[in-house]
Amino acid sequence: MRQTLVAGNWKMHGDKQMVTHLLKKLLTKQTPSVKFLVFPPYPYLSQAAEMLAGSNIGLGAQDCSHAAEGAYTGEVSVAMLTDLGVSHVLLGHSERRQYHAETNEQVLEKAKRVLAAGLIPVVCVGETLEQRQAGATDQVVSQQLSGLLQGLTLLQLQKVIVAYEPVWAIGTGLTATPQQAQDVHGFLRNTVAKVNKNLAASMLFLYGGSMKPDNAASLLKMPDIDGGLIGGASLDADQFLAIGKAAE
Ligand code: PEP
Repeated sequence: MRQTLVAGNWKMHGDKQMVTHLLKKLLTKQTPSVKFLVFPPYPYLSQAAEMLAGSNIGLGAQDCSHAAEGAYTGEVSVAMLTDLGVSHVLLGHSERRQYHAETNEQVLEKAKRVLAAGLIPVVCVGETLEQRQAGATDQVVSQQLSGLLQGLTLLQLQKVIVAYEPVWAIGTGLTATPQQAQDVHGFLRNTVAKVNKNLAASMLFLYGGSMKPDNAASLLKMPDIDGGLIGGASLDADQFLAIGKAAE
């Protein structure tokens, strides 16, 4: 049985006041059937950890360093994230791939660090519009996934969450249709099934890309969509909660 997960990627938004306001609201509306998870920017992880302590809302970081520690100015290690009470780490988001030239190899390296610390990697995969139009969606996402499937042990893979985020749908207001999203989710689950059927049956696949309260229910009812990774709408507690409600 896969538990529905509704995750909010706050990206580089917010301030102390916003964190307090948003989390206070989320904390009043916890639901047993849907798990919430938030990815605040690094500077607010500590504040969020204090507020979320004892709740069932998970706390994630938006990235981590590939290195354990040392002379890496500006980087944040998995050990530091663990120290702050982080449970999940977002890896390979398309904005990291685009603006920081993050590769599948680096994502794998980071995933190993995250897993070694007992945290959960949420790994993003997804095609650009050009790749979709060229009919290369399956090829792109399977390449992004295959590094993990080859580089991690079965035990490690059992902890991994995958987020399918078509790049053309992120922050654009364009959403994949439920069928388009289901097709890729089904393809990804089948790809994992070739490695191990039980793993494929238990792995969580989240959809991300302009998910909003008005399109969430139709996406989330698809058989291989186990939740959402939400950007813009996660910055508004009411919208984020409404997506959670749609997932119930
Ligand atoms: C994201 O950044 O992961 C995302 C899905 O953003 P949005 O919901 O704003 O498209």
